[in-house]
Amino acid sequence: MPATNINDIIALCKRRGFIYQGSEIYGGMQGIYDYGPYGVEMMKNIRDAWWRAMVYERDDVEGMEAALISSRLLWKYSGHEASFSDPLVECKKCGLRMRQDKMKDQTKCDTCGTADLTPPRDYQLMMGLSLGAVADGEINAYLRPETATTTFTNFKNVLDSVPHKLPFGIVQIGKAFRNEISPRGFVFRMREFEQAELQYFVKPGDDEAQFEEWKSARMNWWIMELGIPAEKLRFAPHEKLAHYAKAAVDIEYEFPDGFDEVEGIHNRQDYDLGSHTKGQGELKIMSKVLENKDSTAKLAYSDPQSGESFLPYVIETAIGVNRAMFAAMVQAYTEECLGDGKSRMVLKLPPRISPVKAAVIPLARNVPELVEMANRVVADLRKLGLGRVELENSGNIGKNYRRHDEIGTPVCITVDHQSLEDGRVTLRHRDTMAQERIAVTDVPARLREIIGG
Ligand code: ATP
Repeated sequence: MPATNINDIIALCKRRGFIYQGSEIYGGMQGIYDYGPYGVEMMKNIRDAWWRAMVYERDDVEGMEAALISSRLLWKYSGHEASFSDPLVECKKCGLRMRQDKMKDQTKCDTCGTADLTPPRDYQLMMGLSLGAVADGEINAYLRPETATTTFTNFKNVLDSVPHKLPFGIVQIGKAFRNEISPRGFVFRMREFEQAELQYFVKPGDDEAQFEEWKSARMNWWIMELGIPAEKLRFAPHEKLAHYAKAAVDIEYEFPDGFDEVEGIHNRQDYDLGSHTKGQGELKIMSKVLENKDSTAKLAYSDPQSGESFLPYVIETAIGVNRAMFAAMVQAYTEECLGDGKSRMVLKLPPRISPVKAAVIPLARNVPELVEMANRVVADLRKLGLGRVELENSGNIGKNYRRHDEIGTPVCITVDHQSLEDGRVTLRHRDTMAQERIAVTDVPARLREIIGG
């Protein structure tokens, strides 16, 4: 059964080195988190699973990585500077600042319950920078609040250097920064987080069919890669569409407090390329865009057959990597009764996203032959390149099993005295606790089979 309380996940994350409060020793900062030894491994595995599905398993998608800082002009023409804001309401009694659309009841303060609230005002979410010695405090750049815009502004660069016919896509994984009014839900809503986004460029007219295809491809990814059962996920179409969107749907996961967004899928039409292109007048731009006299690049696509130049439509898929990790942990969190008043906590993660792939345990740490044999197993497993493999040399097998159950290590391999004689080791499976005795030479192939892919 998945976690029923996020406090269990928060405690596990701290205890076992997944996630710590940012700036903790100085009192902490709201919405800012640091990732520990197992958190970084798991984030990396989720990024890899996403990249593999979106880039390596396709012919039509390229990857890129833009800078986190970009010119103010990008965010002026993208529309963020004028309208990337949330409605802020302040309680006149206790001073609490709330995001109006996320309040429990929009007529009352979330904390003290008074109805004495200020009218909502737009609160800018972008973090401005004053870059360079001459700026003198004036905002001339921003930390990006999403990865998409820098993908659009590199559209011509990518297409010129790696030509593609429509439809094709460009992806990015990277940090995004938003000055969220009320960070909440642990890593659910952070001020610094990570996104993995696809911008898929299609012929206008093909956009509706492509939108549907991406919806099912993305839903499938959550089920197959993160091990989330279909009944814990749902599509939630947006009731109110952003001015540039023709269609928008969220994928929601059922967290302990209810369903909430983990991914957004949008049909953005020609809004973005139309906003950032030069020569807007020569292109038939469908969307309502700001007049752009600063761009130096024509962000159009030239049809190889007709020679016609036009703006492709964009289907965007955007996940939060931190939210994906959080959802996978909630889903995998299991407390099991073992009888006799004993219980265990186990993280039943899909092996591919587990932070540690295998732990090798010499039964006695003071017997050099055992440690040596365990080290040889570790070396053989590391050669597979599947991820982190640990030597557990504390000598307390019960404790080792408990630790590795809690961090979701799919298998523990024990080397004992008998192993020195018959060349066989014990492989213990995390989920069933079943043990099998196999030849040490078969361990790498068995681990590869368990991890998959
Ligand atoms: P919300 O409505 O929750 O503020 P959004 O619709 O603005 O989110 P998008 O801009 O579509 O979010 O971003 C895509 C994904 O990035 C979201 O589905 C979510 O997983 C993630 N994300 C967005 N904001 C945050 C945040 N503050 N902290 C962590 N992840 C976030």
